[in-house]
Amino acid sequence: RELKATGRWKGELWNRRKSGEVFLEHQTITMVPGPDGKPVRYVAVFNDITELRRKDERIRHLAYHDPLTHLPNRQLLHDRLDHALALCRRESKTLAVMFLDLDRFKVINDTLGHDVGDNLLREVATRLADAVRGTDTVARLGGDEFVVLVEHPDTTGAVAAVAEKIIRALAAPVDLGPHKVHVTTSIGISFYPGDGEDLTELMKNADTAMYAAKAAGRNTYHFFSAAMNERAQWRLELENEMRHAVERGDFQLHYQPKVELATGRPCGAEALIRWNHPTKGLISPADFIPMAEETGMIVEMGEWAILEACGQMRRWLDAGLPPMTVAVNVSTRQLTGPGLYSIVAAALEVNDLPPAALELEVTESGVMDQAERAIAMLEGLKTLGVSIAVDDFGTGYSSLSYLRKLPINTVKIDRSFVMDLETNEQDAAIVRTILAMAQTLKLNVVAEGVETAAQAAMLAEANCDMAQGFHYARPLPAPAFAEWLRAATARQSTLA
Ligand code: C2E
Ligand code: CA
Ligand code: CA
Repeated sequence: RELKATGRWKGELWNRRKSGEVFLEHQTITMVPGPDGKPVRYVAVFNDITELRRKDERIRHLAYHDPLTHLPNRQLLHDRLDHALALCRRESKTLAVMFLDLDRFKVINDTLGHDVGDNLLREVATRLADAVRGTDTVARLGGDEFVVLVEHPDTTGAVAAVAEKIIRALAAPVDLGPHKVHVTTSIGISFYPGDGEDLTELMKNADTAMYAAKAAGRNTYHFFSAAMNERAQWRLELENEMRHAVERGDFQLHYQPKVELATGRPCGAEALIRWNHPTKGLISPADFIPMAEETGMIVEMGEWAILEACGQMRRWLDAGLPPMTVAVNVSTRQLTGPGLYSIVAAALEVNDLPPAALELEVTESGVMDQAERAIAMLEGLKTLGVSIAVDDFGTGYSSLSYLRKLPINTVKIDRSFVMDLETNEQDAAIVRTILAMAQTLKLNVVAEGVETAAQAAMLAEANCDMAQGFHYARPLPAPAFAEWLRAATARQSTLA
């Protein structure tokens, strides 16, 4: 348009050489008019500016990155933090700023020389970048100071887990030619919005927290807020103690009955783990299962649970209790790891139990995370004859086409749908849909978290097979469960 109107145009174009190579050109096109003023030809003059542009980009990279480690520098960190904060404000999300300072870096630098110091900083930069998610920013402020931005962490615990991962990542000695160097770091953490509204405040408070970490003996992390710190302290203690808790026999299983809705007959139990801590008392799984998942301890804990639940079944059979199925929860880590099949096989064999005595509860998200490996494991378990239940159904992907492919026997409708069954028409509709679908796929259905007779009646009405919840019994220690079962069975026979 410009060429037609004014007889001239200039601008930048991507062009291609005969060889196929693409290049950037700055081009000027001029119209050459004939005697009547109409265009006879166009003349184009161009410069290849590919190299020039590359240099510009290199300069821009240098302006925003630290030349030693190639990490974003203070300038780029500020840009990103500003941008991230704006996003957090708009969408009411959270953000964590971690301030890291290497411990005793100056000593290494002064005694081994600056070249060794530089190499160490490069290695630290690489390990930091590897320890965080791709969406998090690692920047170097200068010297031995680094900052990590964690955007939208799910919980403060998740940020604590990142800090622990960083500390572990730095723990391995750094091989610097003739020297092997141990380096540790102290980390201070502040949160948006709790610990500050803007960049300056968040950085300042993370820095303050970092000094607290140094004061606490280095090689650790510290939250700016006192409450979070207490929580982190508690986490660290639990995590350390968890390693010995299995050996010490601190863990116990409680058993919660499952009941056949049509008849009210007890038809099984779910084993739920409890940590009976010597000084802290009974700790809920909600407090330690996530931590056990992060550290991998869940595998050992879960294996113990399977062995213990099967051992208990054997003791109950020997004591004359009726045969039934015990359900044990299995975490994603176990499902995708190598040991589950052999543990299940061994637990059944040493206790001389039929496979029908054991059911494994897996979560939908657990299966979907690494679908192929999980499905292979489930197929394997299926050949042993144990049954598989999908736990917390309705809260994850709930992909029906996938469900069809999974080798499962049972779905457990999540408590959140049962809770408001009487008042929330939408929840009632979801429950009816799950029941209809399960019927088509020939799956059993257990409703979780049944607390009232009215809920039980509605579920029975809708042809739900089984129920579990406080309405029948809370999770009980093994002796109390046996007693409950005897009483319930006696009640049943009087009814009959
Ligand atoms: P879950 O598998 O969904 O277990 C059911 C939870 O609901 C249990 O919480 C149980 O006490 C609670 N519950 C049962 N009936 C009712 C009710 O009527 N009302 C209400 N409000 N709650 C009810 P608990 O025992 O605290 O366990 C929490 C979670 O910890 C379990 O959720 C499970 O995901 C996990 N967990 C427990 N034991 C193990 C284990 O041995 N291994 C693994 N991997 N996870 C476990
Ligand atoms: Ca469960
Ligand atoms: Ca559940």
